[in-house]
Amino acid sequence: MKPSEVLCVDTTSDKPDLKNMTLDEIESFIAGLGKQKYRAQQIMKWMHQAGVTSFDEMSNLSKTFRAEIESQVRISSLIIEKIQASRDGTKKILFRLEDNNCIESVLIREKNHWTLCMSTQVGCQMGCRFCLTGKGGFTRNLLPSEIVDQITMARFNTPEGDNIKNIVMMGMGEPLANYKNTVQAIKIITNDYGPAVSPRKVTVSTCGIVPMIEHLGNDTPVNLAVSLNASDNETRNMLMPINRIYPIESLIEACRTFPMPRRRRITFEYILIAGVNDSPNDAERLARIMKGVPCKFNLIPFNEYPESEFTTPGDERIDAFQNVLIKHRYTAVTRKSKGRDILAACGQLRGQVEKHENVS
Ligand code: SAH
Ligand code: SF4
Repeated sequence: MKPSEVLCVDTTSDKPDLKNMTLDEIESFIAGLGKQKYRAQQIMKWMHQAGVTSFDEMSNLSKTFRAEIESQVRISSLIIEKIQASRDGTKKILFRLEDNNCIESVLIREKNHWTLCMSTQVGCQMGCRFCLTGKGGFTRNLLPSEIVDQITMARFNTPEGDNIKNIVMMGMGEPLANYKNTVQAIKIITNDYGPAVSPRKVTVSTCGIVPMIEHLGNDTPVNLAVSLNASDNETRNMLMPINRIYPIESLIEACRTFPMPRRRRITFEYILIAGVNDSPNDAERLARIMKGVPCKFNLIPFNEYPESEFTTPGDERIDAFQNVLIKHRYTAVTRKSKGRDILAACGQLRGQVEKHENVS
């Protein structure tokens, strides 16, 4: 799959949405109207840094200019349907899209700042066996505007919003299966006149669509996380169907060649599932196959959910696995998923509005 084959289509309106556009694209639009370039910077700041959704509020643009742009383009906006807080401080935001589909983002508290875990698709088509998002099936790709607006809305509608410093594309969906829109969103999110998040603070997580990992490295300077979850092809084939197309060896090779500044590392997520991939032998094999890849491990004990076919290993088993990796001089942290009580933990996002609620 080439990036150009994935289209960025907005079907909700005839007018192009300014929130889908990068600074360069807004500049060409403005230039077409015979206006100066810096007007594009002003418009972008209004949308992404002031959270403005109507042209009337852009007070440093003349009335006639505002009317002129309004006749040609529009500004979309996500609607916040609900914000839930977990006992551990994690917050889950449920957004309604213009076509009434719903997605979720999660705010995770770090030491001195907050991380926003964003969605890139409504659902997911990758079918990983352990993942509740995957079990819900796939509806559609998110538009760049719908990816970007998750951070703008979170910033303006939560007390923690100002302090969102990191972004992980690890919510609903597979970012590299929505490649073009994800990269467009990254360009907007990291622009100085947009949400202005440093590219070093943006991480894209993938289940391992190998050719797109290479494109991502060439097209953006963001960090890479890979959901690995197994150290042999037989187990990974069983857990993650994508492995039958791009087996572990090809995935690791793509990671080896992923362009990275010195001292940066790829994060490998590894869900520990009792009796499936959590033995000391699995850990030894993992240490062996990762040799020479600049990496760190996030070990995530499997989050059980009603009717899940897998279970979480006991603490001893988790510690033993982690200790093998540490013995081999890897950085390995055990990341107890946050927000379990509100189904905001890894793989639990479904973008569903509870049936008993009136959401009209
Ligand atoms: N599609 C991308 C990004 C989002 S997936 C990817 O797969 O990387 C969200 C993360 O949650 C992945 O790292 C996945 O391995 C993890 N996950 C999914 N279901 C889980 C579960 N039941 N318990 C723990 N982690 C889970
Ligand atoms: Fe999709 Fe990621 Fe869940 Fe797999 S783990 S089904 S790729 S969201």
